[in-house]
Amino acid sequence: MFPPSYITLSKSAFRTNLAFVQERLGTARLCSVVKGNAYGHGIEPFVQLAMENGVDYFGVYSADEAYVLLNAGVGKPDVFIMGLVDDEALDWAVEQGVECCIHNVSRLERAIRTAERTGRKARVHIEVETGMHRTGFEVKVLKNVFDRLLEKMDHIEPIGLFTHFAGAESLVNDDRVREQIAHFDVARNQVERSGILFEYHHQACSAGVMNYPGTIGNMARVGIMQYGFWSNSETWFRYSGMHGDAEDPLRRLISWNSQVMAVTDVKAGQFIGYGTSCEAQTDMRVAVVPVGYAHGFDRGLSNFGAVLIRGQRARITGIVNMNAISVDVTGIAGAAAGDPVVLIGEQGDQRISVSSFSEMSEQLNYEMLTRLPRDIPRVITD
Ligand SMILES: *Cc1c(COP(=O)(O)O)cnc(C)c1O
Repeated sequence: MFPPSYITLSKSAFRTNLAFVQERLGTARLCSVVKGNAYGHGIEPFVQLAMENGVDYFGVYSADEAYVLLNAGVGKPDVFIMGLVDDEALDWAVEQGVECCIHNVSRLERAIRTAERTGRKARVHIEVETGMHRTGFEVKVLKNVFDRLLEKMDHIEPIGLFTHFAGAESLVNDDRVREQIAHFDVARNQVERSGILFEYHHQACSAGVMNYPGTIGNMARVGIMQYGFWSNSETWFRYSGMHGDAEDPLRRLISWNSQVMAVTDVKAGQFIGYGTSCEAQTDMRVAVVPVGYAHGFDRGLSNFGAVLIRGQRARITGIVNMNAISVDVTGIAGAAAGDPVVLIGEQGDQRISVSSFSEMSEQLNYEMLTRLPRDIPRVITD
């Protein structure tokens, strides 16, 4: 009710990105990664949009996200919990036919017990520790794991054997990633010898798909690219360098919008907002926009960021408040209360990108997106 701002997701942008990703994947299956509230896009609207466009498989980090997804009223896609499933969550997942990451013996035994008790097969992905040193079975213990699976084949459905790269977006990590790929090859050979048939062998995330296409195999877990972002700028430069493409083939789905609440005149020499960080050098007109750090608008953008009003950039004047910012509309003729404001996205031929929010961190797009508060309404547009 009465939201001060709202987020839109562009259908056509999603279709463009999906086509680009699917072209890379060929016949391999796409697992659409929607953890972190679909990278801030909103898991429910995003999954709905993806399913309307033929996506039937989603990856989440933990069971609570799988629960939200399956109760969103969007149908029953395949869902893979790639990370955390504690005991009760595992019981729920097995009963629902949700696929789970099995990364240690305790998870494996619990999955088997639940499957025996409920009479439903546990749909499992065995995670291999190849060099990330986070979770997963060491290659040297895999034989025991496979033996155990073979004993319990009546209760286990071996969906996947997988690993995750520790930084496929940067050439700096190339040796490490190649070592991971080599370890995964060893694991796959062991699978072959064991006689177990996994439906999928999967390694690649977005950066894997772009920089190590040989790892796509018959499935990839793609997150950031489907939302229209490269894993990092290096990955984009590598792609554009190789393809001689001047234009970015990906399009951002997300826009963040609000409207002008009030416009006020400020005389030269007066201060704008809290404190003295912003003194008007000349007579100015300032518009107040009802979005602040309580809504996820970073305080670091104080006296630095900009928004779009009437197709022009309006610079932030003063400190980002809890619920509002002031922006300079001196040069924007006719700016008035009620004018649409774009905080992220396009207006006319101007654009405010997610990365313009700060240039500090390499992983910035991921972080900025997932920090967008859940309670901002999400709306799908054409
Ligand atoms: C987040 C994640 C992905 C997707 O990563 P992107 O870089 O967004 O494509 C894939 N696999 C796992 C295990 C993940 O946690």
